Amino acid sequence: MLAYTYVKPGQFALLEKPRPTLLHDRDAIVRVTLASICTSDLHIKHGSVPRAVPGVTVGHEMVGVVEAVGSAVTTLRPGDRVAVNVETFCGECFFCRNGWVNNCTDPNGGWALGCRIDGGQAEYVRVPYADQGLTPIPAGVSDRQALLVGDLLATGYWAAQISEIRPGDTVLLLGAGPTGLCTLQCVLLQQPGRVIVCEPDPLRRRFVAEHYPQVLCVEPGQAPAFVRANSAHGGADVVLEVAGSRDSFSLAWQCARPNAVVTVVALYDAPQVLPLPEMYGKNLTFKTGGVDGCRCADILSLIASGKLDTTALITHTFPLRDIAAAYDLFEGRKDGVIKIAVTPDG
Ligand SMILES: [Zn+2]
Ligand SMILES: [Zn+2]
Repeated sequence: MLAYTYVKPGQFALLEKPRPTLLHDRDAIVRVTLASICTSDLHIKHGSVPRAVPGVTVGHEMVGVVEAVGSAVTTLRPGDRVAVNVETFCGECFFCRNGWVNNCTDPNGGWALGCRIDGGQAEYVRVPYADQGLTPIPAGVSDRQALLVGDLLATGYWAAQISEIRPGDTVLLLGAGPTGLCTLQCVLLQQPGRVIVCEPDPLRRRFVAEHYPQVLCVEPGQAPAFVRANSAHGGADVVLEVAGSRDSFSLAWQCARPNAVVTVVALYDAPQVLPLPEMYGKNLTFKTGGVDGCRCADILSLIASGKLDTTALITHTFPLRDIAAAYDLFEGRKDGVIKIAVTPDG
């Protein structure tokens, strides 16, 4: 089968590999029907994910059909349509039992697919702990509707859940990239009073304005004054930092009102400064990510009932054989790209 592979830092290649087989009794083999490209894949390509193993098939956001299950898999059978969870977790350790599946103590716990074990930019993928890592897709929900469930929507949903958003709150969201837009939809489900999106790219601000007309948009330079002017208590009640750019962390806490919750979803290229003397007395609560991606069934129900819809984020579709061109477009942020769907060549 064809599998897009991390050869070495700076180089991915589409290689012919054997189809994966069941290695453990809790594994499933999934025939990938739609995969996506994620910014984290670019981080692997650029050598900035030290855990990534050269030779691994990349891709960690996909949907497909179960082909085979191990003898200990209880909730799935061949033929089931499933969303694949970005995270691998056993469901039994201390962290899993508390819902903190990102810190599952299994050696492959957390983000392993497409990083440490073969992922889904391929025709087939082996998924460990299939009862935890696969979620059946309800009838009536298409592959395109379900594509982002296991990674970006899981992240956005988790971020919105932990941010303690109350009705009427002013919520500031930094970053309107793919993760930011998924987070935005999940924040809107919590019915805050007002949502402000801060985003430097005018194309992305326009996308937000077109698709979410109830949301206010601002560029970073104007954000502190704009947020003060549009909130009741001198700053945002809740801030979600999904941008991960050079100045976005400091903007996040500066735009927060005293006693606000600041949720940091972003992954940074460099250490960030937490200037405690400057923020003394502001009494902020910081929450930090890695997603605990164990709510995929809830997310799929929200999609099935029409409350979440991320299909507009999928701006391009490429066949697997042209995946290098898809990466080129995604990496160069050409042609207004937000998310790319990859179809197997069949
Ligand atoms: Zn990802
Ligand atoms: Zn676990």
